[in-house]
Amino acid sequence: MNASSLLPPWRAALVVGLGQSGLSALRLLASAGIPVRAYDRRDALALGPTLEALPEAASAELLLGEPEVPEAAFAGVDAVVLSPGVPPSPVRARQELHAPQAIVHGELSLALLALRRAWPELPTVLVTGTNGKSTVTSLTGALLAAGGMRVFCGGNLGTPLADLALSALQGAAPPDALVIECSSFQLETLERHPTAVAMILNVTPDHLDRYASIADYAATKGRIFAGLRPGGLALLDAGDPWTASLRALVPAGAQVELVDDPSGGAIVGAGPGAALVRGEESIDRGLLALAGRHNSKNALFALAAARHLGVSVADCERGLAAFRGLPHRMVAVGERDGVIYYDDSKATNVASVLASLDGFDRPFVLIAGGRPKGDDFAPLAGLLAGRGRGLVAIGEAAHELIAVAMHVVPAREATSMAEAVALARDMASPGDAVVLSPACASYDWYESYRHRGEAFARAVDAVSCRP
Ligand code: ADP
Repeated sequence: MNASSLLPPWRAALVVGLGQSGLSALRLLASAGIPVRAYDRRDALALGPTLEALPEAASAELLLGEPEVPEAAFAGVDAVVLSPGVPPSPVRARQELHAPQAIVHGELSLALLALRRAWPELPTVLVTGTNGKSTVTSLTGALLAAGGMRVFCGGNLGTPLADLALSALQGAAPPDALVIECSSFQLETLERHPTAVAMILNVTPDHLDRYASIADYAATKGRIFAGLRPGGLALLDAGDPWTASLRALVPAGAQVELVDDPSGGAIVGAGPGAALVRGEESIDRGLLALAGRHNSKNALFALAAARHLGVSVADCERGLAAFRGLPHRMVAVGERDGVIYYDDSKATNVASVLASLDGFDRPFVLIAGGRPKGDDFAPLAGLLAGRGRGLVAIGEAAHELIAVAMHVVPAREATSMAEAVALARDMASPGDAVVLSPACASYDWYESYRHRGEAFARAVDAVSCRP
């Protein structure tokens, strides 16, 4: 591929934020021959080693260590690439003032722009939703792979998409399909991208610290349908309150399938005999190792996408049976004195805690808290009133959580993960579970939900059995 045709002939581009995706965007832009400016609030001391390891950074103009993007950064810029962690409003306000002609991208939308120029026919599946994105993205990838396709799974998950676009530039052969997890932040800048399957798994309150209202958040999710090709497939959860309004955004000529509905994919029966049924096709639910009704729905979304791209039912069954789930989503990390400890650190909002624990088969002590994301914690009281033994609250949300739980179950605050595990252990009896399912972001104490889950597993490891 000719470098200069991978992206439009921008005079210059400004990358705001030099985390993993910002660095990946910088490499792509510089490799495509576009003069790059790059800003980060961190200074050269903090970023030096990372930038030294990146040959493309040598040609970039670096603006480091200032609290705001300097005005001069916008001069002559035709594209601004925002990193997901950077609050967009102040940067956009400056861009509108100093570079109104510039298009605003995120790393994902920039990479998709390059990919549709490099490989215009590549079948693309886009996945969004408040909860279940990573599970459905990986499961869809696994089903397509079981059908013999070479799949790139990425986006919000795993490898930045800009790395794939860069490989196109370097002459790599295209994969057979793309499966892309899209966060709502990434959808904010998504342009109409030719899409084979686009799905919205669910919309529940989340990130209300960033959006004016849940309607605003749902509308951002709805952008995922804009590029569906004629004959393309839109998938929505029949029971989600936002489905009717989101359905209206599906372009004419695309098909719509409702999940968990007799008209589309349905879960028929319960327990060991349950089946995942779509039209004439029925697949044994028991093939999928992941527990929970939410995971039956996740499987129906993935199956619909894989069947639309031509994978046979038999291959889907093999792919489903081989799928083992992802770390930090209700994974048992230890057992002491008959108590099982589950790491569900990925449950960063109330809806995902409810999905993980509604119908859970053991009494449990919940460890929750962290940085609140604007969710109402009240539904957790109902959950704890069921099989809850107690609550251990951590981080910035601790007091708010204790206020919600204290009339329902014993509730204590911990000031470290080790203390949280110790308090939870004291509340639990043999046959119970201790579950880290925080309903909050991790950034008050940790770099990420992974880091938080690892800290929990280490604290569990350090617990010795009672004599
Ligand atoms: P995401 O990538 O959207 O954060 P994950 O696949 O990582 O989602 O799952 C995170 C958590 O969300 C899971 O641990 C589970 O508690 C919950 N979850 C998964 N799928 C669903 C679903 N379909 N509906 C509701 N909650 C779900």
